[in-house]
Amino acid sequence: MNTHTPSSRIGGLHKLAVSERIARLAQFAQLGADDQTLLAQTGNLPAETADHMIENFVGTMNIPMGVATNLRIDGRDRLVPMATEESSVVAAVCNAARQSYEAGGFVTSMSGTRMIAQIQLTGVSDPQHARLRILERLEDIRSMCDACDPVLVKLGGGFRDLEVCVLDTRGGAMVITHLIVDTRDAMGANAVNTMAEKLAPHIAQWTSGTTNLRILSNLADRRLARARCVWPLEAIGGAEVRDAMLSAYHFADADPYRAATHHKGIMNGVSAVVLATGNDTRAVEAGAHAFAARGGRYASLTTWEATDRGDLAGTIELPMAVGLVGGATKVHPMARLALKILNVGSAEELARIVAAVGLAQNFSALKALATTGIQKGHMALHAQNIAMMAGAVGEEIDRLAQVLVARGMVRMDVAEVELGLMRDQR
Ligand code: NAD
Repeated sequence: MNTHTPSSRIGGLHKLAVSERIARLAQFAQLGADDQTLLAQTGNLPAETADHMIENFVGTMNIPMGVATNLRIDGRDRLVPMATEESSVVAAVCNAARQSYEAGGFVTSMSGTRMIAQIQLTGVSDPQHARLRILERLEDIRSMCDACDPVLVKLGGGFRDLEVCVLDTRGGAMVITHLIVDTRDAMGANAVNTMAEKLAPHIAQWTSGTTNLRILSNLADRRLARARCVWPLEAIGGAEVRDAMLSAYHFADADPYRAATHHKGIMNGVSAVVLATGNDTRAVEAGAHAFAARGGRYASLTTWEATDRGDLAGTIELPMAVGLVGGATKVHPMARLALKILNVGSAEELARIVAAVGLAQNFSALKALATTGIQKGHMALHAQNIAMMAGAVGEEIDRLAQVLVARGMVRMDVAEVELGLMRDQR
């Protein structure tokens, strides 16, 4: 056994050509020729593009992309691309959308496309005075921010508002400035961060304090996407199912242990569309969870009620900082293709579709959990993963998956035995 551990201190790895980088990695991790060939296969993201996207690029990680069917959003039919490695996610959206299609589908709206950048000011003995000094500079701040991004201003975006608060912290009083900026069809992180960095020295000068952090807030609560939908009682299987779903929602809204999983389901749908379109999944996820806790308690992002007819009415509202430009949206060929399939004209339109998908996903999860349990629907697809993990290839995958489901034992050990039997019978 080789006990020598190679060093991870590799200076200038990023300066090497991709092939040289892979060779260095292979040396470190003792990768064979097959491994290196796999790393070099970058699929639909050309290596030279990827090499400009991140540091120390060595390969791509392909994730399946599916399309959700049956979605009718604001009176228009959509096929929605979803990138996810989890088996039941696309099917869940298709099912929820099918059960609402005849009744008209989803209605969506948005609160705007404004992002917030924060500037932290410390070391002022008179924070309340400092606050007003900053607020008095509104027009200077507006022109400085807008000068940072003339393209954005030309497109109708730019600085919109100023908020300054005094924050009581463990480290004493801080004066926090919020720049509120309309970033239009961009997610806007770079746009607002540039403005915050430009402005910070001026804030320090006006107040004689010290500025520290200058960064956007992912709690994008000026950029809320909303969706609502009514599922007719007969489409979902009657009052008993509806009431069980309502009870499941009441549980999630009252209990953070349940709410976390409730939101995992919602983000299954949301993150899959966000990823497929080259947007920042972490930004949207961070925003969603922070928004869920805005009342001081982590509660449900969705609401569920019975209408006067007895149908099931769902809503969702969550921050949705997604763009059609910036980040990987224009750079990754598959993100461009996903946006082409969606055929959206604005970031707002995209955000509203994502919200509808989140609501659809929540419907399916609640329904499955409140009726047959999540495993029944999950298992048929999960069985295919288990079959592949056990070594099944080609048509063996479906056959073995069916055997596992039929036996009610979707397990690796069973899959290995059954695969052996299948091969022996040939
Ligand atoms: P960007 O800077 O690449 O592009 C936005 C710019 O494009 C705008 O500032 C504007 O000048 C121009 N533009 C052209 N057409 C436009 C249009 N129709 N609407 C609006 N602007 C238009 O990207 P960005 O959106 O500012 O930043 C997004 C990236 O920042 C993502 O990759 C994200 O991962 C990353 N990021 C995120 C965080 C965070 O979430 N905390 C922090 C830093 C960076």
